[in-house]
Parts: sequence; C-alpha cells; structure tokens
Amino acid sequence: MAPLTKFLELRQRIESLGVIVGPEGKLLKRLGDGNDEFVGKLEDSDLIFGNHGLYVIEDGVLAKVVLHICDIDIYWISRRPNAQAALNGKVFSDAHLIEVLHKYHFTNCQKLQEMTRSGRQYRYHKAQRLDGTFYYYFLDSENLVSTNKNQRLYVCSFCLNSWKEQTGQDDCQQRNFPSSNIFANDLFPSISDNGYVLDCDAVPNIYAGDWEKISQRAKEKAGWKCKDCLKDFSQPKMKPYLDCHHKDHRKYNNSVMNLEVLCVIHHAERNGHAHMKNTPRYKEYKRIADASFPI
Ligand SMILES: [Zn+2]
Ligand SMILES: [Zn+2]
Ligand SMILES: [Zn+2]
Repeated sequence: MAPLTKFLELRQRIESLGVIVGPEGKLLKRLGDGNDEFVGKLEDSDLIFGNHGLYVIEDGVLAKVVLHICDIDIYWISRRPNAQAALNGKVFSDAHLIEVLHKYHFTNCQKLQEMTRSGRQYRYHKAQRLDGTFYYYFLDSENLVSTNKNQRLYVCSFCLNSWKEQTGQDDCQQRNFPSSNIFANDLFPSISDNGYVLDCDAVPNIYAGDWEKISQRAKEKAGWKCKDCLKDFSQPKMKPYLDCHHKDHRKYNNSVMNLEVLCVIHHAERNGHAHMKNTPRYKEYKRIADASFPI
C-alpha cells in the first residue's frame, strides 16, 4: 500500500522537474517548442496510469477519491425554478454556472446521503486530480455542447464543515479550498469507491443517435401498453403519451433490461422525474385519462 504522502511527494517532485506523466507512466519533459522528450518510465504496482494522469491505488481500488456531478443540462437549468433562485436572476458564463450550482464532496455528507436516498447517486463521478479542476460536460438535453477538462468547482459546504471541525482550520473558504488538502490529510478516509466511474472516462448522458428507432421498437415489443397501468396506446392519437424510460437514468444505456415502456403519468412517477408533471404533454394526457376513467 502506497502512503498518500509518497504519492503527493512523487508527483510534486516530478512536476518540479518540468516533467509530466503521460500515458502508461511515460515521463515526458516539456521542451517548450511543442515537443516532449521521453525521459523515462514509472513502474509501481500502487500507481496506475490513466489516459489523463496518474492515479494511486490502495487495496485494488482508487485511493481517496472525491465525488462530483460531471454534467449539466443548460436547457433544463434555464427552466428549473430552484436553479433560477440559486442564480438569483443573474446571467453567468457556463463555467461560473457550475461553480454556483455544483460542488465536489470528500465525505459522505448529508447532501450525498440525500442524493443516495432519492436514487440520484448515479449522477456522481469520481476524481483524483489535485489541482481542484474536474471534467465537465455541457449538454442541451439532446446533444453534447462542449467539454471542459478544467472546470473549477467549490467544495461542498457540509464537507467543509467536517473539515473545519476535525482540523480546527476555521478560516477555509469554499471557493479556494484546494482538493489537494484532502489527498494529503489522513483524518479523512476516502468516500467508498463504490463502482463510480472517473470523470474523465464518463460517457455524456445523452441519447444515442438512433434513439427514436430504439424507443419505437421497445414500444412495439411492449404491445404499446404502459407497464404500470396496462392501458393501450396503440391508437395514433394516443402514441405521443407513451414513453420509453431508462431505469438506470443513463440515456445511452439502451440494453433491453434497462428500458421500460410507460405512459407519461407513470413515467413522471419514476425517481427524479417529477418535473415532467409540469409539461403540457403530461397535463393533456392527465385530462384525457381523467375523462375516460373518472375516479
Ligand atoms: Zn459534501
Ligand atoms: Zn401508465
Ligand atoms: Zn425516464
């Protein structure tokens, strides 16, 4: 097991030589003319060399990770009342928007617990970079608009309070708390690395290009019936009220096991889908359903 201090020291030493760690542990000296000179290779069973840097392993898992959400739907944010309230009517750049809305976590704080309880932990990815920047994907509900490989995030206020309590360092600020603090401090065990994917390896949560066909096929296979209420949506005027839902919330995971054919009412009952109840389509179908099946 590699002590984390060794990892930090190693990294700082390497960086102070003007050398970067490239893929497969290759050490590359930056020559300043755009070229890199190969100066050696790191070999250590406690380190892994990802496409995006150096990671330290303990007992077979990534040691000390922080968790953060790594995508934001710009379109959705612009309509979401609580996001609007957080933004307080101000217009921010995309990067600043994330700083206001999303934080990174290093303890299993009340925010992470609440997200787990409400079935939304799928939104988190792990990171092990020391410079306080993270991978971020900007989406507009259907498409990947851009990727920011160096998105700055503030630390979560609940996590920061634990830090202050345990270290006595009262003067830390959310906006400039370096994530390297976490990696260098042994008071905080890592958040359990429960199968989270590294942010740099995240697949942007958008629909596959052939999603229309896939969802059409799933509905045909289900006989145009909602799985929950078993009502029939095969009439052309009813088809727009039948949806195809991704059980694991990953819009790109179109395995048969992950798809569920649901009417718009039952779709809106699924975890994290309550916002659907405000859509015209939901209200329209609710009127039709109430009229044909009076309670
Ligand atoms: Zn937190
Ligand atoms: Zn239904
Ligand atoms: Zn859904």
